[in-house]
Amino acid sequence: MTEDATPALDAGEEIAVERTRAGMPPVPAATSRDRGIGPFARLVLRGATVIDGTGAPPIGPTDIVIEGGRITAVKKVGVPGAPINAARRPAAGDHEIDCHGKWVTPGFIDCHAHAGVPYHALNGWVPPVDYVYKLWLAHGVTTVREMGGFSGLGWMLAQREASARHEIAAPRLLAYPYFPAVNDMLKTLHTPEQARAWLRRVKQRGADGVKFFGAPPAIMQAALDECRALGLRSGCHHAQTAVSRMNALTTAGWGLTSAEHYYGLAEAMFENRTIQDYGADYNYNNEHFRFAYAGQVFRGAAQPGSAKWEATLESFLRLGFTFVPTFTIYDANRDVMRARAADWHREYTWKSMWDYFLPAPGAGHGAYFSRWSTANEIDWKENYRLWMRFINDYKNRGGRVCTGSDSGFIFQIFGFGYIRELELLQEAGFHPLEVLRAATLHGAELTGLVEETGSVEVGKCADLLVHDHNPLEDFKLLYGTGALRVNAGSGRPEFRRGLRFTIRDGVVFEVAELLADVRAMVAQSWEGASEARPQGWSA
Ligand SMILES: [Zn+2]
Repeated sequence: MTEDATPALDAGEEIAVERTRAGMPPVPAATSRDRGIGPFARLVLRGATVIDGTGAPPIGPTDIVIEGGRITAVKKVGVPGAPINAARRPAAGDHEIDCHGKWVTPGFIDCHAHAGVPYHALNGWVPPVDYVYKLWLAHGVTTVREMGGFSGLGWMLAQREASARHEIAAPRLLAYPYFPAVNDMLKTLHTPEQARAWLRRVKQRGADGVKFFGAPPAIMQAALDECRALGLRSGCHHAQTAVSRMNALTTAGWGLTSAEHYYGLAEAMFENRTIQDYGADYNYNNEHFRFAYAGQVFRGAAQPGSAKWEATLESFLRLGFTFVPTFTIYDANRDVMRARAADWHREYTWKSMWDYFLPAPGAGHGAYFSRWSTANEIDWKENYRLWMRFINDYKNRGGRVCTGSDSGFIFQIFGFGYIRELELLQEAGFHPLEVLRAATLHGAELTGLVEETGSVEVGKCADLLVHDHNPLEDFKLLYGTGALRVNAGSGRPEFRRGLRFTIRDGVVFEVAELLADVRAMVAQSWEGASEARPQGWSA
């Protein structure tokens, strides 16, 4: 094998080394913190209407006391509309936030995200990960399950620790290195024993879990068995090149924690075939085919309400399985103009990312829109209808569905893509309280952090969001740009934004400051460019 010529790699570095060789080195890491105040000895949020993340309805006015980054009291201090008896409120803090007329929710958990994408180097100056972190925090994301570690496990672990010590302005990070066992992506593991040894090593290095992309079944089964023994969690993108040998139900039965995206799900419900109805001209390396046919996969499966559909739901439920659909990352497939013309591109989209998204000969991953047709979009609309129905049915039967964004590809921008996912879960049929629970408590359960975060409860870390507007009323107000509304005074259109503060582990970030930092960074990335910046509205 060609790998023999290079020095031995530590487990978890394979993808970073391979990308570096191809001219895509690790993204610039964050090294210091220039935003956020605290944690405080005693922080008090006064008079909030609390939506606690468990699915419980809003309740307030409530005072929340946070000591050394932990919630130590959640106290009801009155009833709506009546004066509050100051004598019966918790004692003063060394820092306080007036939350009367505001809403407090848990911080959001992004269960499928990338801390920067080295691939953007194909189009010039790659955004430093500080850009990514600030966009996440500005959209309320306080915990991230980093899936794949494009910059390497060592890089990821160092960022995770720096964030835990509040040395950088970032969400809590979880490291899920990429399992290198797929021919067309990256393959250094060739036997079940090698897979087990690799997993033992990444566990020893400190990984929280593993991102799978498929593997030969014997390797996958051994790997999932080893994950169970080691206490490593797992998520799998069932690549089309692997799915004919094992779909999401196969791997769920072997102990996989979650299925990412939609891959491998429709295949678990095939009745009249065992392989998707690909045309003879299909070539997986041509992303037009890869995504055009992917838009037809649910059409070829058992239909909603059928015996097979119901049996599949039941099988996943019995296994306690979790879906992380990341609806947002394929949103462009059903209306590419919408995704390309989003309000936020003008001020928040880094130049090399924008260039990476645009179709071009030999373009990067996800830039397949050079011949995307009306028919492709209609296929995808129908695909979403069926896929969303399954995900909503699964939720209704008690199954766990979590929120992931996968931003950095296909016109989706960090943070903004996450909020879009909340909108899409609502479109799938989730009540806004169910959406919030998916984004918070259920994400904490999936990642094994339920004692630490995911709900507003005494004993948990203060991962909290302070909203100027009720998020249940309209998720659009969570976008960094806000949403276009009318100013009641002037009668003129204006952008209105809902998120005021993101509190991570007791450190208080002012969202407006984070957004201003990002706009300044993005403006730099466009300095001197001859091309026009993307269009869009702005506040
Ligand atoms: Zn991904």
